[in-house]
Amino acid sequence: MKASIYGLTRQQVTDWVLENNQKSFRATQIWEWLYRNRVASFEEMTNLPKSLIDKLNEDFVLNPLKQRIVQESKDGTVKYLFELPDGMLIETVLMRQHYGLSVCVTTQVGCNIGCTFCASGLIPKQRDLTSGEIVAQIMLVQKYFDERQQNERVSHIVVMGIGEPLDNYDNVMTFLRVVNDDKGLAIGARHITVSTSGLAPKIRDFAREGVQVNLAVSLHAPNNDLRSSIMRINRKFPIEVLFEAIEDYIQTTNRRVTFEYIMLNEVNDGVEQAQELADLTKKIRKLSYINLIPYNPVSEHDQYSRSTPERVAAFYDRLKKNGVNCVVRQEHGTDIDAACGQLRSNTLKKDRETARARIAAAKAKAGIKA
Ligand code: SAH
Ligand code: SF4
Repeated sequence: MKASIYGLTRQQVTDWVLENNQKSFRATQIWEWLYRNRVASFEEMTNLPKSLIDKLNEDFVLNPLKQRIVQESKDGTVKYLFELPDGMLIETVLMRQHYGLSVCVTTQVGCNIGCTFCASGLIPKQRDLTSGEIVAQIMLVQKYFDERQQNERVSHIVVMGIGEPLDNYDNVMTFLRVVNDDKGLAIGARHITVSTSGLAPKIRDFAREGVQVNLAVSLHAPNNDLRSSIMRINRKFPIEVLFEAIEDYIQTTNRRVTFEYIMLNEVNDGVEQAQELADLTKKIRKLSYINLIPYNPVSEHDQYSRSTPERVAAFYDRLKKNGVNCVVRQEHGTDIDAACGQLRSNTLKKDRETARARIAAAKAKAGIKA
C-alpha cells in the first residue's frame, strides 16, 4: 500500500525530490501546495513538471482517509468518523474554543492500555496509525472549514483521541514536526498538547526531542492502590517512577506539566483524595496544573458515574487551599458521543448489529433456524 505524502517532514520531501534528480526548490513548491493551498490531488500542483506529478502519484497517495460520518453539535463541536485504507475506523473531534479551533487527533486503532473508564480501551490496539494518517486528520478538518469559506484556521491540537501517543512514538513525533513546520500549517508548538497515560521511559525521551509541545499526564488517582485499580499501566510504571520521569521532563525542558484527573463519583473524588493529590504534586507546585475533567459516561463501564457538583466543588476547594493551579474543564459535544472513542465504538456496535440482522434475515429467508 502506498504511503501518504502527509507522513513526510519537509526534510523528507526534500530528500525524495533530490533522489528523483530534481532541484530542491521543487520540495518547497510541493510543501506549499500541500499545506498552504491544501490541494486535493497532485494534478493540482500546476507549477510542477508533468513527470514529477507522475512520480508523486507513483510513490504516494495524498489523502489516506475517507470521511464516513460528520456530526455537528449545538456548541460547534464537530465529530468526524474516518475510514483508513484497510477499512478500520478512527475518530477526530474539532472543538470551538474561545482561543480558536482545536482538533483532537487519534494515534492508534484501539488502545492496549485498557483504562477501566475509557471507551477506546474497550478495543485492543489493532495497529498504530502512520504519521500520514495522523496529519491527514488535521488536513481534513482544515479542508472542511476551507470548503465552507469560513476562513478559519485550526490553531490548536490535542493528541487526546483514541490511542496512547507515546506507544506510537516515532509516528507521533513526525506528525508533530509536520504540523509545526513554519512553512506549512505552522501550528505553534505551544498550541499543541500530547497526553499520555504515563509511559515513564517515553516521557524521558520526549523531554529530549527539543520540541516545545505541552505534555499532559493522565493521573486520575493520587495513590498506587487506586491508580492501579483503574489504570493497569500503573502496575508497570507506578506513581514514584512516573513522577521521577515527570521531574526529569520539567528539569530538561523547563516546561510545565498538566495533570488530567477525571472526576469519578465516590471513586477518586473525596476531599482526602484531593489532599493526597495536593501533597503528591507539592514538589512541582509551580510547574504543574491540574485539570479536573467531568467523566463522560461510557455505557460499557457502568460502574462509574459523574461526580456530583458538590463533590467537585469540595475537591476543587481543597486543591485551591493548598495553592494548586487547577481548573474544572468545560465539556464539548456531549450530545454527539464526544467521549473519547464513543462515536467509533457506537458505530462499530451498530455495524455489528446491522450485520447480525442481515445474517438473521438471510437465514430466515433460506429457512435456517437462528
Ligand atoms: N492515551 C492518552 C491520550 C488519549 S485519552 C491518555 O490516556 O492520556 C485522552 C484523555 O481522555 C485522557 O486523560 C483520558 O483519561 C480521558 N478519558 C478517557 N475516557 C474518558 C471518559 N469516559 N470521560 C472523560 N475523559 C476520558
Ligand atoms: Fe488508552 Fe488513554 Fe483510553 Fe487509557 S485513557 S485506554 S491510555 S486512550
